[in-house]
Amino acid sequence: MEKDILKIMISEEEIQKKVKEIGQRITEDYKGRDLLVVGILKGCMLFLSDLVKEIKLPLTMDFMVVSSYGSATKSSGVVRIIKDLEREIQDKDVLIIEDIVDTGLTLSYLMENLKTRNPRSVKVCSLLDKPDRRKAAVDIEYVGFTIPDEFVVGYGLDYSEVYRNLPFVCVLKPEVYMK
Ligand code: 5GP
Repeated sequence: MEKDILKIMISEEEIQKKVKEIGQRITEDYKGRDLLVVGILKGCMLFLSDLVKEIKLPLTMDFMVVSSYGSATKSSGVVRIIKDLEREIQDKDVLIIEDIVDTGLTLSYLMENLKTRNPRSVKVCSLLDKPDRRKAAVDIEYVGFTIPDEFVVGYGLDYSEVYRNLPFVCVLKPEVYMK
């Protein structure tokens, strides 16, 4: 995998520091609330598992798998729910955990969908924010890093299902996409 990396954009140390900061903010903000962390698989995996350890509150977790129709690197905005939540979310304080918000189409669809289920609140926490290509306005309460319009992998993010286990966020060499 190392030979495929063009540059590291966000190091493991930077990520871990940021995860602690966000965890502290969430701990403050959700005191006394009924926090339900909703992870959007698979991209959220590494971020969510590190983040929940830094939230010093009782919480529950549930997961969704969604698929956005389109090519590997472009989102189309048409979202299909492959795996829905296991429990109802009525009166819960839902915090969606995402790996990256790019066009915002996936997230705006998800937020609308979850809001119809009468939660007490729905907020978003995303490791990465790529605002340059935004098509749907989404309010992201907790953002790890704002990044330029480059396709990144690592720390949960994939290219063709590979590279998710890298502990940092990086850009791949162009030739990787030509294979
Ligand atoms: P959106 O609907 O906001 O355009 O895109 C959401 C999804 O597109 C993300 O959850 C992620 O799966 C994928 N995506 C967008 N940008 C990137 C990127 O730079 N790298 C990777 N690996 N996936 C991305």
